[in-house]
Amino acid sequence: MEIIHVSAECYPMAKAGGLADVVGALPKYQNQLGHIAKVVMPMHRTKFLYDNDWEVVHKSSFVMGPNSFEYTIIKEQTNKLGFDLYCVDINGLLDREKIYSYSDDTERFCAFQIAVVDWLSKWQHRPDIVHVHDHHSALIPFMMQHCIAYNHLAAIPTVLTIHNAQYQGWMGWDKQNYIPAWDIRSWGNLDWNDTINPLACGIKCAARVTTVSPSYMEELVYDANGLEKLFQYEKSKCVGILNGIDNETWSPVNDTYITDNFSIKNFEEGKLINKKTLCKEFGLDIKKPLVVFIGRLVGEKSADLLPRAITDALRDLDGAINFLILGSGDANVEQQLLALNNSFVGYYNSQIGYNEKLSHIMYAGADFLLMPSRIEPCGLNQMYAMRYGTVPIVRRTGGLKDTVIDYEDPGGFGICFDRATVWDISYSLHRAVKLYGDKNKLSKIIKKLMNIDNSWEKSAGNYISIYQQLST
Ligand code: ADP
Repeated sequence: MEIIHVSAECYPMAKAGGLADVVGALPKYQNQLGHIAKVVMPMHRTKFLYDNDWEVVHKSSFVMGPNSFEYTIIKEQTNKLGFDLYCVDINGLLDREKIYSYSDDTERFCAFQIAVVDWLSKWQHRPDIVHVHDHHSALIPFMMQHCIAYNHLAAIPTVLTIHNAQYQGWMGWDKQNYIPAWDIRSWGNLDWNDTINPLACGIKCAARVTTVSPSYMEELVYDANGLEKLFQYEKSKCVGILNGIDNETWSPVNDTYITDNFSIKNFEEGKLINKKTLCKEFGLDIKKPLVVFIGRLVGEKSADLLPRAITDALRDLDGAINFLILGSGDANVEQQLLALNNSFVGYYNSQIGYNEKLSHIMYAGADFLLMPSRIEPCGLNQMYAMRYGTVPIVRRTGGLKDTVIDYEDPGGFGICFDRATVWDISYSLHRAVKLYGDKNKLSKIIKKLMNIDNSWEKSAGNYISIYQQLST
Protein backbone atom coordinates (compact mmCIF):
# COMPACT_ATOMS: atom_id res chain seq x y z
CA MET A 1 0.00 0.00 0.00
CA GLU A 2 1.10 3.56 -0.55
CA ILE A 3 0.60 5.65 2.60
CA ILE A 4 1.09 9.41 2.80
CA HIS A 5 1.73 10.68 6.33
CA VAL A 6 1.14 14.41 6.79
CA SER A 7 2.59 16.06 9.89
CA ALA A 8 3.99 19.33 11.25
CA GLU A 9 6.97 17.50 12.77
CA CYS A 10 9.21 14.59 11.83
CA TYR A 11 12.46 13.56 13.50
CA PRO A 12 15.23 14.37 12.63
CA MET A 13 14.05 17.14 10.29
CA ALA A 14 12.11 19.04 13.01
CA LYS A 15 11.12 17.97 16.51
CA ALA A 16 9.21 19.62 19.33
CA GLY A 17 8.04 16.43 21.05
CA GLY A 18 6.72 12.92 20.64
CA LEU A 19 4.86 13.63 17.39
CA ALA A 20 8.21 13.98 15.61
CA ASP A 21 9.50 10.71 17.04
CA VAL A 22 6.40 8.84 15.89
CA VAL A 23 6.29 10.30 12.38
CA GLY A 24 10.04 9.77 12.05
CA ALA A 25 9.74 6.08 12.92
CA LEU A 26 6.33 4.64 11.97
CA PRO A 27 6.80 5.08 8.16
CA LYS A 28 10.20 3.39 8.33
CA TYR A 29 8.67 0.34 10.00
CA GLN A 30 5.74 0.33 7.58
CA ASN A 31 8.23 0.28 4.71
CA GLN A 32 10.03 -2.63 6.36
CA LEU A 33 6.70 -4.47 6.28
CA GLY A 34 6.71 -4.09 2.48
CA HIS A 35 4.59 -0.95 2.08
CA ILE A 36 5.46 2.44 0.62
CA ALA A 37 5.09 5.02 3.36
CA LYS A 38 6.07 8.63 2.74
CA VAL A 39 6.05 11.76 4.90
CA VAL A 40 5.03 15.28 3.91
CA MET A 41 5.77 18.15 6.30
CA PRO A 42 6.37 21.90 6.24
CA MET A 43 9.83 23.05 5.24
CA HIS A 44 11.09 24.38 8.56
CA ARG A 45 14.47 26.05 8.42
CA THR A 46 16.41 23.50 10.49
CA LYS A 47 19.91 22.05 10.54
CA PHE A 48 18.66 18.90 8.82
CA LEU A 49 17.40 21.01 5.92
CA TYR A 50 20.82 22.57 5.37
CA ASP A 51 22.81 19.38 5.98
CA ASN A 52 21.03 17.35 3.30
CA ASP A 53 20.47 17.38 -0.44
CA TRP A 54 17.03 18.04 -1.83
CA GLU A 55 15.41 17.91 -5.23
CA VAL A 56 12.41 19.92 -6.38
CA VAL A 57 9.55 17.58 -7.31
CA HIS A 58 6.66 19.99 -7.80
CA LYS A 59 5.90 23.70 -8.02
CA SER A 60 2.52 25.34 -8.20
CA SER A 61 0.34 27.93 -6.53
CA PHE A 62 -2.98 28.26 -4.73
CA VAL A 63 -5.25 30.99 -3.49
CA MET A 64 -5.97 31.40 0.22
CA GLY A 65 -8.34 34.18 1.20
CA PRO A 66 -7.31 37.34 -0.67
CA ASN A 67 -3.76 36.09 -1.34
CA SER A 68 -2.14 33.82 -3.85
CA PHE A 69 0.80 31.69 -2.69
CA GLU A 70 3.42 29.81 -4.65
CA TYR A 71 4.55 26.55 -3.15
CA THR A 72 7.38 24.12 -3.85
CA ILE A 73 7.62 20.47 -2.83
CA ILE A 74 11.15 19.26 -2.23
CA LYS A 75 12.30 15.72 -1.53
CA GLU A 76 15.30 14.48 0.45
CA GLN A 77 17.42 12.75 -2.19
CA THR A 78 18.93 9.75 -0.46
CA ASN A 79 16.04 8.13 1.41
CA LYS A 80 18.35 8.09 4.42
CA LEU A 81 15.50 8.02 6.93
CA GLY A 82 14.09 4.80 5.54
CA PHE A 83 11.21 6.63 3.83
CA ASP A 84 10.76 9.41 1.30
CA LEU A 85 10.60 12.75 3.07
CA TYR A 86 8.89 15.64 1.29
CA CYS A 87 8.82 19.21 2.54
CA VAL A 88 6.46 21.97 1.50
CA ASP A 89 7.99 25.39 1.09
CA ILE A 90 5.67 28.36 0.96
CA ASN A 91 7.61 31.56 0.71
CA GLY A 92 7.24 33.73 3.76
CA LEU A 93 4.99 31.29 5.62
CA LEU A 94 6.83 28.03 6.23
CA ASP A 95 10.56 28.66 5.86
CA ARG A 96 11.08 29.58 9.50
CA GLU A 97 13.24 28.28 12.34
CA LYS A 98 10.57 27.34 14.87
CA ILE A 99 7.84 24.80 14.19
CA TYR A 100 5.08 26.59 16.13
CA SER A 101 4.26 29.70 18.15
CA TYR A 102 4.05 32.32 15.45
CA SER A 103 1.13 34.75 15.46
CA ASP A 104 0.15 33.57 11.96
CA ASP A 105 0.19 29.82 12.75
CA THR A 106 -3.43 29.46 11.60
CA GLU A 107 -2.58 30.89 8.20
CA ARG A 108 0.67 28.90 8.01
CA PHE A 109 -0.91 25.52 8.71
CA CYS A 110 -3.97 26.18 6.53
CA ALA A 111 -1.61 27.05 3.68
CA PHE A 112 0.48 23.93 4.36
CA GLN A 113 -2.61 21.73 4.18
CA ILE A 114 -3.90 23.35 0.99
CA ALA A 115 -0.49 22.86 -0.65
CA VAL A 116 -0.45 19.17 0.32
CA VAL A 117 -3.96 18.55 -1.03
CA ASP A 118 -3.27 20.60 -4.17
CA TRP A 119 -0.12 18.57 -4.82
CA LEU A 120 -1.93 15.24 -4.23
CA SER A 121 -4.69 16.35 -6.61
CA LYS A 122 -2.11 16.65 -9.39
CA TRP A 123 -0.64 13.17 -9.00
CA GLN A 124 -1.11 10.80 -11.92
CA HIS A 125 -2.21 8.09 -9.50
CA ARG A 126 -3.92 7.99 -6.10
CA PRO A 127 -2.22 6.88 -2.87
CA ASP A 128 -4.05 4.17 -0.91
CA ILE A 129 -4.21 6.10 2.38
CA VAL A 130 -3.71 9.65 3.57
CA HIS A 131 -2.76 9.52 7.24
CA VAL A 132 -2.86 12.90 9.01
CA HIS A 133 -1.44 13.68 12.46
CA ASP A 134 -2.88 16.17 14.99
CA HIS A 135 -4.74 19.38 14.25
CA HIS A 136 -2.08 20.87 11.95
CA SER A 137 -3.13 18.46 9.22
CA ALA A 138 -6.63 17.55 10.42
CA LEU A 139 -8.46 19.74 7.89
CA ILE A 140 -7.10 17.62 5.05
CA PRO A 141 -9.86 14.95 5.18
CA PHE A 142 -12.43 17.79 4.95
CA MET A 143 -10.59 19.43 2.06
CA MET A 144 -10.44 16.11 0.18
CA GLN A 145 -14.16 15.53 0.62
CA HIS A 146 -15.83 18.92 0.63
CA CYS A 147 -13.62 21.50 -1.07
CA ILE A 148 -14.91 21.89 -4.60
CA ALA A 149 -11.48 21.92 -6.27
CA TYR A 150 -10.32 18.76 -4.50
CA ASN A 151 -13.34 16.52 -3.95
CA HIS A 152 -12.15 14.17 -6.69
CA LEU A 153 -9.84 12.90 -3.89
CA ALA A 154 -12.85 11.98 -1.73
CA ALA A 155 -12.52 8.26 -2.36
CA ILE A 156 -9.04 8.04 -0.79
CA PRO A 157 -9.48 6.78 2.80
CA THR A 158 -8.09 9.05 5.49
CA VAL A 159 -6.86 8.24 9.00
CA LEU A 160 -6.38 10.85 11.73
CA THR A 161 -4.03 10.07 14.61
CA ILE A 162 -4.46 12.23 17.68
CA HIS A 163 -1.19 12.60 19.55
CA ASN A 164 -2.62 15.25 21.83
CA ALA A 165 -6.26 16.33 21.97
CA GLN A 166 -5.54 19.35 24.17
CA TYR A 167 -4.47 21.34 21.12
CA GLN A 168 -7.22 21.65 18.53
CA GLY A 169 -6.17 24.54 16.24
CA TRP A 170 -9.31 26.63 16.90
CA MET A 171 -9.89 29.41 14.37
CA GLY A 172 -12.67 31.95 14.22
CA TRP A 173 -15.31 31.80 11.52
CA ASP A 174 -13.86 35.11 10.27
CA LYS A 175 -11.05 32.94 8.87
CA GLN A 176 -13.30 30.62 6.91
CA ASN A 177 -11.85 31.90 3.66
CA TYR A 178 -8.51 30.28 4.59
CA ILE A 179 -10.17 27.03 3.54
CA PRO A 180 -10.59 26.60 -0.24
CA ALA A 181 -14.19 27.04 -1.51
CA TRP A 182 -16.32 24.33 0.06
CA ASP A 183 -19.83 23.05 -0.24
CA ILE A 184 -21.87 25.23 2.12
CA ARG A 185 -23.95 22.22 3.25
CA SER A 186 -20.85 20.78 4.90
CA TRP A 187 -20.24 23.68 7.32
CA GLY A 188 -21.26 21.48 10.24
CA ASN A 189 -18.09 19.46 9.74
CA LEU A 190 -15.97 22.54 10.41
CA ASP A 191 -17.93 23.89 13.35
CA TRP A 192 -17.59 23.05 17.03
CA ASN A 193 -19.01 25.48 19.59
CA ASP A 194 -19.20 28.34 17.10
CA THR A 195 -15.58 28.17 15.97
CA ILE A 196 -13.83 26.26 13.23
CA ASN A 197 -12.18 23.44 15.12
CA PRO A 198 -9.68 21.59 12.88
CA LEU A 199 -9.22 18.65 15.26
CA ALA A 200 -12.98 18.16 15.67
CA CYS A 201 -13.34 18.47 11.90
CA GLY A 202 -10.71 15.74 11.42
CA ILE A 203 -12.56 13.48 13.85
CA LYS A 204 -15.80 13.99 11.92
CA CYS A 205 -14.33 13.58 8.44
CA ALA A 206 -11.55 10.98 8.74
CA ALA A 207 -12.57 7.40 8.02
CA ARG A 208 -10.79 6.21 11.17
CA VAL A 209 -9.45 8.04 14.20
CA THR A 210 -6.67 6.66 16.31
CA THR A 211 -5.08 7.84 19.52
CA VAL A 212 -1.66 6.85 20.71
CA SER A 213 -2.69 4.50 23.52
CA PRO A 214 -5.84 2.54 24.44
CA SER A 215 -6.19 4.16 27.89
CA TYR A 216 -5.99 7.67 26.42
CA MET A 217 -8.79 6.72 24.02
CA GLU A 218 -10.94 5.69 27.00
CA GLU A 219 -10.12 8.92 28.86
CA LEU A 220 -11.06 11.17 25.92
CA VAL A 221 -14.67 10.13 26.20
CA TYR A 222 -14.93 12.06 29.48
CA ASP A 223 -11.92 14.42 29.33
CA ALA A 224 -11.04 15.88 25.93
CA ASN A 225 -10.80 19.64 26.32
CA GLY A 226 -14.37 20.16 25.13
CA LEU A 227 -14.61 17.32 22.59
CA GLU A 228 -15.97 14.66 24.96
CA LYS A 229 -19.40 14.49 23.27
CA LEU A 230 -17.77 14.16 19.87
CA PHE A 231 -15.61 11.25 21.03
CA GLN A 232 -18.70 9.60 22.52
CA TYR A 233 -20.58 10.06 19.25
CA GLU A 234 -17.74 8.87 17.00
CA LYS A 235 -16.64 6.06 19.32
CA SER A 236 -17.19 3.35 16.75
CA LYS A 237 -14.51 4.67 14.41
CA CYS A 238 -11.97 5.46 17.14
CA VAL A 239 -9.28 3.10 18.37
CA GLY A 240 -6.20 3.41 20.61
CA ILE A 241 -2.95 2.01 19.25
CA LEU A 242 0.05 2.19 21.53
CA ASN A 243 3.05 4.01 20.08
CA GLY A 244 6.24 2.09 19.66
CA ILE A 245 9.77 3.38 19.93
CA ASP A 246 12.44 3.36 17.26
CA ASN A 247 14.83 0.76 18.62
CA GLU A 248 17.50 1.80 16.13
CA THR A 249 17.59 5.44 17.22
CA TRP A 250 17.06 4.64 20.90
CA SER A 251 19.55 1.92 21.68
CA PRO A 252 22.07 2.01 24.54
CA VAL A 253 24.21 -0.35 22.48
CA ASN A 254 24.95 2.10 19.67
CA ASP A 255 23.55 5.50 20.67
CA THR A 256 26.20 7.99 19.53
CA TYR A 257 25.01 10.71 21.92
CA ILE A 258 25.82 8.86 25.13
CA THR A 259 29.20 8.73 26.89
CA ASP A 260 29.49 4.96 27.01
CA ASN A 261 27.45 2.34 25.20
CA PHE A 262 26.14 -0.63 27.12
CA SER A 263 23.85 -3.61 26.89
CA ILE A 264 21.97 -5.74 29.38
CA LYS A 265 25.25 -7.62 29.96
CA ASN A 266 27.24 -4.64 31.24
CA PHE A 267 24.59 -2.09 32.19
CA GLU A 268 26.00 -1.52 35.69
CA GLU A 269 29.29 -0.21 34.36
CA GLY A 270 27.76 1.54 31.32
CA LYS A 271 25.07 3.36 33.23
CA LEU A 272 27.59 4.46 35.84
CA ILE A 273 29.88 6.04 33.22
CA ASN A 274 26.95 8.03 31.83
CA LYS A 275 25.86 8.99 35.32
CA LYS A 276 29.41 10.22 35.98
CA THR A 277 29.14 12.55 32.96
CA LEU A 278 25.92 14.02 34.34
CA CYS A 279 27.19 14.32 37.92
CA LYS A 280 30.40 16.01 36.79
CA GLU A 281 28.64 18.47 34.50
CA PHE A 282 25.85 19.32 36.92
CA GLY A 283 27.66 19.05 40.25
CA LEU A 284 25.71 16.06 41.58
CA ASP A 285 26.69 13.15 43.81
CA ILE A 286 27.23 9.88 41.96
CA LYS A 287 26.47 7.78 45.05
CA LYS A 288 22.94 9.07 45.40
CA PRO A 289 19.96 7.97 43.34
CA LEU A 290 19.56 10.33 40.40
CA VAL A 291 15.98 11.21 39.43
CA VAL A 292 15.49 13.06 36.15
CA PHE A 293 12.60 14.81 34.42
CA ILE A 294 12.72 15.49 30.67
CA GLY A 295 9.91 17.30 28.89
CA ARG A 296 7.70 20.25 28.32
CA LEU A 297 7.27 22.32 31.48
CA VAL A 298 3.49 22.57 31.23
CA GLY A 299 0.43 21.69 33.31
CA GLU A 300 -0.23 18.52 31.29
CA LYS A 301 3.11 17.17 32.52
CA SER A 302 2.46 18.43 36.11
CA ALA A 303 5.63 20.50 35.79
CA ASP A 304 4.09 23.04 38.20
CA LEU A 305 4.26 20.41 40.97
CA LEU A 306 7.99 19.78 40.54
CA PRO A 307 9.46 22.70 42.55
CA ARG A 308 7.42 21.84 45.67
CA ALA A 309 7.85 18.07 45.28
CA ILE A 310 11.63 18.39 44.85
CA THR A 311 11.97 20.77 47.78
CA ASP A 312 9.93 18.46 50.03
CA ALA A 313 11.84 15.37 48.93
CA LEU A 314 15.26 16.93 49.54
CA ARG A 315 14.13 18.08 52.97
CA ASP A 316 12.29 14.90 54.04
CA LEU A 317 14.92 12.54 52.68
CA ASP A 318 17.72 14.61 54.16
CA GLY A 319 19.41 15.04 50.78
CA ALA A 320 19.61 11.30 50.05
CA ILE A 321 18.48 11.92 46.48
CA ASN A 322 19.60 14.02 43.46
CA PHE A 323 17.54 15.66 40.72
CA LEU A 324 18.27 16.84 37.21
CA ILE A 325 15.61 18.59 35.11
CA LEU A 326 15.65 19.28 31.36
CA GLY A 327 12.80 21.13 29.73
CA SER A 328 11.18 24.34 28.70
CA GLY A 329 7.68 25.77 28.73
CA ASP A 330 5.76 27.83 31.26
CA ALA A 331 8.00 30.81 32.15
CA ASN A 332 6.87 30.80 35.77
CA VAL A 333 7.77 27.12 36.24
CA GLU A 334 11.08 27.66 34.43
CA GLN A 335 11.95 30.44 36.90
CA GLN A 336 11.01 28.40 39.96
CA LEU A 337 13.06 25.44 38.76
CA LEU A 338 16.06 27.63 37.98
CA ALA A 339 15.81 29.28 41.41
CA LEU A 340 16.29 25.87 43.04
CA ASN A 341 19.74 25.59 41.36
CA ASN A 342 21.08 28.01 43.97
CA SER A 343 19.13 26.58 46.90
CA PHE A 344 20.27 22.98 46.44
CA VAL A 345 23.79 23.08 45.03
CA GLY A 346 25.15 19.53 44.87
CA TYR A 347 21.69 17.95 45.03
CA TYR A 348 19.75 19.47 42.19
CA ASN A 349 20.26 21.10 38.82
CA SER A 350 18.05 22.20 35.96
CA GLN A 351 18.66 23.02 32.32
CA ILE A 352 16.04 25.14 30.64
CA GLY A 353 15.88 24.54 26.91
CA TYR A 354 15.84 21.77 24.35
CA ASN A 355 18.88 19.49 24.16
CA GLU A 356 18.61 16.20 22.29
CA LYS A 357 22.10 14.95 23.22
CA LEU A 358 21.69 15.71 26.92
CA SER A 359 18.31 13.97 26.96
CA HIS A 360 19.94 10.76 25.68
CA ILE A 361 22.67 10.90 28.36
CA MET A 362 19.98 11.47 30.97
CA TYR A 363 17.98 8.41 29.85
CA ALA A 364 21.22 6.41 29.99
CA GLY A 365 22.77 7.76 33.18
CA ALA A 366 19.78 8.33 35.46
CA ASP A 367 18.49 5.82 37.98
CA PHE A 368 14.87 7.00 37.80
CA LEU A 369 12.78 9.04 35.36
CA LEU A 370 9.85 10.97 36.84
CA MET A 371 6.63 11.50 34.84
CA PRO A 372 3.82 12.78 37.08
CA SER A 373 1.67 13.80 34.07
CA ARG A 374 -1.93 14.93 34.47
CA ILE A 375 -2.48 13.98 30.82
CA GLU A 376 -0.20 11.63 28.86
CA PRO A 377 -1.60 10.45 25.50
CA CYS A 378 1.15 7.84 25.20
CA GLY A 379 4.45 9.15 26.52
CA LEU A 380 7.64 8.02 24.90
CA ASN A 381 10.07 9.09 27.63
CA GLN A 382 9.15 6.22 29.93
CA MET A 383 9.77 3.73 27.11
CA TYR A 384 13.14 5.30 26.26
CA ALA A 385 14.07 5.24 29.95
CA MET A 386 13.16 1.56 30.21
CA ARG A 387 15.28 0.69 27.18
CA TYR A 388 18.25 2.36 28.90
CA GLY A 389 17.62 0.59 32.22
CA THR A 390 16.19 3.60 34.02
CA VAL A 391 13.23 2.95 36.32
CA PRO A 392 10.12 4.98 35.38
CA ILE A 393 8.17 6.71 38.16
CA VAL A 394 4.80 7.48 36.59
CA ARG A 395 1.28 8.56 37.31
CA ARG A 396 -1.22 5.97 36.12
CA THR A 397 -2.77 7.83 33.21
CA GLY A 398 -3.06 7.38 29.43
CA GLY A 399 -0.12 5.60 27.88
CA LEU A 400 1.79 5.55 31.17
CA LYS A 401 -0.91 3.28 32.57
CA ASP A 402 -0.58 1.03 29.49
CA THR A 403 3.22 0.69 29.60
CA VAL A 404 4.34 0.68 33.24
CA ILE A 405 3.47 -1.82 36.00
CA ASP A 406 4.45 -1.11 39.60
CA TYR A 407 7.34 -3.26 40.75
CA GLU A 408 5.35 -4.54 43.72
CA ASP A 409 2.64 -5.89 41.40
CA PRO A 410 3.02 -9.18 39.50
CA GLY A 411 5.41 -8.79 36.56
CA GLY A 412 6.14 -5.18 37.55
CA PHE A 413 9.19 -2.99 36.96
CA GLY A 414 8.31 0.65 37.71
CA ILE A 415 6.94 2.93 40.42
CA CYS A 416 3.33 4.00 39.88
CA PHE A 417 0.99 6.38 41.65
CA ASP A 418 -2.56 7.58 41.10
CA ARG A 419 -2.90 11.27 41.77
CA ALA A 420 -1.07 14.25 40.32
CA THR A 421 -0.27 15.71 43.75
CA VAL A 422 2.90 16.72 45.55
CA TRP A 423 2.08 14.11 48.18
CA ASP A 424 1.89 11.22 45.69
CA ILE A 425 5.11 12.31 43.99
CA SER A 426 6.90 12.60 47.35
CA TYR A 427 5.73 9.16 48.44
CA SER A 428 6.97 7.68 45.14
CA LEU A 429 10.35 9.37 45.56
CA HIS A 430 10.64 7.78 49.01
CA ARG A 431 9.93 4.42 47.38
CA ALA A 432 12.60 5.13 44.76
CA VAL A 433 15.23 5.82 47.42
CA LYS A 434 14.27 2.62 49.21
CA LEU A 435 14.53 0.61 45.99
CA TYR A 436 17.89 2.18 45.18
CA GLY A 437 19.14 0.86 48.52
CA ASP A 438 18.22 -2.71 47.57
CA LYS A 439 20.85 -3.34 44.89
CA ASN A 440 19.75 -6.92 44.21
CA LYS A 441 16.16 -5.99 43.57
CA LEU A 442 17.14 -2.94 41.51
CA SER A 443 19.45 -4.98 39.33
CA LYS A 444 16.70 -7.53 38.64
CA ILE A 445 14.29 -4.72 37.75
CA ILE A 446 16.79 -3.09 35.39
CA LYS A 447 17.30 -6.38 33.56
CA LYS A 448 13.54 -6.74 33.26
CA LEU A 449 13.20 -3.19 31.91
CA MET A 450 15.90 -3.67 29.33
CA ASN A 451 14.24 -6.86 28.08
CA ILE A 452 10.87 -5.23 27.43
CA ASP A 453 10.05 -4.88 23.74
CA ASN A 454 8.21 -1.63 23.05
CA SER A 455 9.38 -1.45 19.45
CA TRP A 456 7.36 -0.25 16.49
CA GLU A 457 7.26 -3.69 14.88
CA LYS A 458 4.00 -4.57 16.68
CA SER A 459 2.19 -1.24 16.37
CA ALA A 460 3.20 -0.55 12.77
CA GLY A 461 1.28 -3.68 11.80
CA ASN A 462 -1.83 -2.52 13.70
CA TYR A 463 -2.01 0.59 11.55
CA ILE A 464 -1.65 -1.49 8.40
CA SER A 465 -4.66 -3.61 9.49
CA ILE A 466 -6.72 -0.42 9.79
CA TYR A 467 -5.64 0.77 6.33
CA GLN A 468 -6.52 -2.61 4.87
CA GLN A 469 -10.01 -2.53 6.38
CA LEU A 470 -10.55 0.90 4.83
CA SER A 471 -9.30 0.13 1.38
CA THR A 472 -11.23 -3.09 0.78
P1 ADP B 1 5.14 15.22 24.29
O1 ADP B 1 3.82 15.33 24.94
O2 ADP B 1 6.01 16.39 24.61
O3 ADP B 1 5.10 14.93 22.82
P2 ADP B 1 6.33 12.56 24.56
O4 ADP B 1 6.71 11.78 25.78
O5 ADP B 1 5.37 11.92 23.64
O6 ADP B 1 5.82 13.98 25.04
O7 ADP B 1 7.66 12.88 23.74
C1 ADP B 1 8.62 13.75 24.19
C2 ADP B 1 9.84 13.66 23.29
O8 ADP B 1 10.48 14.93 23.31
C3 ADP B 1 10.89 12.67 23.76
O9 ADP B 1 11.67 12.24 22.68
C4 ADP B 1 11.74 13.55 24.73
O10 ADP B 1 13.02 13.01 24.93
C5 ADP B 1 11.77 14.83 23.94
N1 ADP B 1 11.98 16.04 24.72
C6 ADP B 1 11.04 16.74 25.40
N2 ADP B 1 11.59 17.84 25.97
C7 ADP B 1 12.91 17.83 25.63
C8 ADP B 1 14.01 18.70 25.90
N3 ADP B 1 13.87 19.79 26.63
N4 ADP B 1 15.22 18.39 25.38
C9 ADP B 1 15.37 17.26 24.63
N5 ADP B 1 14.36 16.39 24.34
C10 ADP B 1 13.14 16.68 24.83
